[in-house]
Amino acid sequence: MFSKILIANRGDVALRVLRACKELNIKTVAIHSTADSEAIHVRLADESVCIGPAPSSKSYLNIPAIITAAQLVGAEAIHPGVGFLSENADFAEIVEAHNIVFIGPKPEHIRCMGDKIEAKITAQKLGIPLVPGSKTDIINFETALQEAKKVGYPLLIKAASGGGGRGMKVALNEEELESAFTSAKSEAKAAFGDDRVYIERYLQKPRHIEVQIIADKFGNTVHLGERECSIQRRHQKVIEEAPSPVIDDKTRNIIGEIASKAVSKMGYLGLGTIEFLYEGNQFFFIEMNTRLQVEHPITEAITGIDLVREQIRIAAGYPLSFQQKDVQFKGHAIECRINAEDPQTFIPSPGTITQFHSPGGLGVRIESCIYSGYKVPPYYDSLIAKLIVHGNDRDQCLLRLKQALKEIVIEPISTTIDLHKQILDTEVMQKGTYDIRWLETKLLNRN
Ligand code: ADP
Repeated sequence: MFSKILIANRGDVALRVLRACKELNIKTVAIHSTADSEAIHVRLADESVCIGPAPSSKSYLNIPAIITAAQLVGAEAIHPGVGFLSENADFAEIVEAHNIVFIGPKPEHIRCMGDKIEAKITAQKLGIPLVPGSKTDIINFETALQEAKKVGYPLLIKAASGGGGRGMKVALNEEELESAFTSAKSEAKAAFGDDRVYIERYLQKPRHIEVQIIADKFGNTVHLGERECSIQRRHQKVIEEAPSPVIDDKTRNIIGEIASKAVSKMGYLGLGTIEFLYEGNQFFFIEMNTRLQVEHPITEAITGIDLVREQIRIAAGYPLSFQQKDVQFKGHAIECRINAEDPQTFIPSPGTITQFHSPGGLGVRIESCIYSGYKVPPYYDSLIAKLIVHGNDRDQCLLRLKQALKEIVIEPISTTIDLHKQILDTEVMQKGTYDIRWLETKLLNRN
């Protein structure tokens, strides 16, 4: 096993990785920007290195500074966490070139799945059902028109390098195609430095359902069931639950098998998530994430498996500590993403938290880096806490979550806690009958 790991991230995920390392008796090294010198994970780590000023381009995305820090402290492996460099194939390659283990998949798999056009071609070859659409980049408007005729309206123009819901534009009909095409291309160029786009059929009322897989280097691949992530705003997840309220055991096994066979054929290593849209009892692949997911704790809750621990063990060359037949799903789990944002306008609300009270009780888990006196910096993602609740069944889980949301106090900054309370009070949430557009179009009444 590794004796020292450098955690190339910040916030709740840095703390999550640190905790797993401690349980494995591994020494931890925190890196941080000047804005995060007081952060909890920095204080709890065995060593820490300041790698640059506040903007992430100069710190958490600064590859030379991170590699230098790892060499300086003699770290044997780097855990990239979630976001930042976690899906950067060049970073994974550079880490390995310095004889440091990258805790994640092989660079070629990160690269292949990071390009959504290539990912779709690969997924199709591996027998995964796709959203109908183009399988090459659309170079000009004439090609867009031809492809649109084949795919049909409404359609979605999506960025090949897309992420975080950016570079995605809907065209309801031919009149809207040109402006959707032009704006998707320019948004993609600005956000990702890559203006390649492709076309996909725009599914009307799908659910977002994703399958967690895990694979070791001995050819063992296991699926850990699905997560339902349909409660979204701006194509970003707000609440996730496991299992999905609409998937039965038989369907779970079928889609789980498809996902795990596919990654096994690829020779994939570590954690991965295959994301699908689900409509009319059919699954349609949209993308694969080659890293730990923000919503991983709900899978941990219903399987009892520590995903980060397994991820580290796999990177260190150990076989998976369980097989498919050992995976049992118990109860129901829901995660609420709590952001430092105004719950009405969603404008970020950085500032000092003077009062923090954590909810508690059986089945209640908080993943967060905040404390009373913590200053939420304005430079990074506004996610400040994840509240994860587990119950014997969905009804119990919902009741526990309601109570936990009543108990939690994060003041005086604005947070999305009230939005979660509002969602929980709806019949749609109680029954689990939502789709990916429900939150924005019905609850928030925005189109
Ligand atoms: P990103 O990588 O930017 O997150 P994804 O391809 O994972 O993009 O899609 C994010 C979300 O966008 C999905 O969960 C869904 O809400 C919406 N979406 C993506 N593709 C489609 C589609 N073909 N039809 C309808 N909605 C879609």
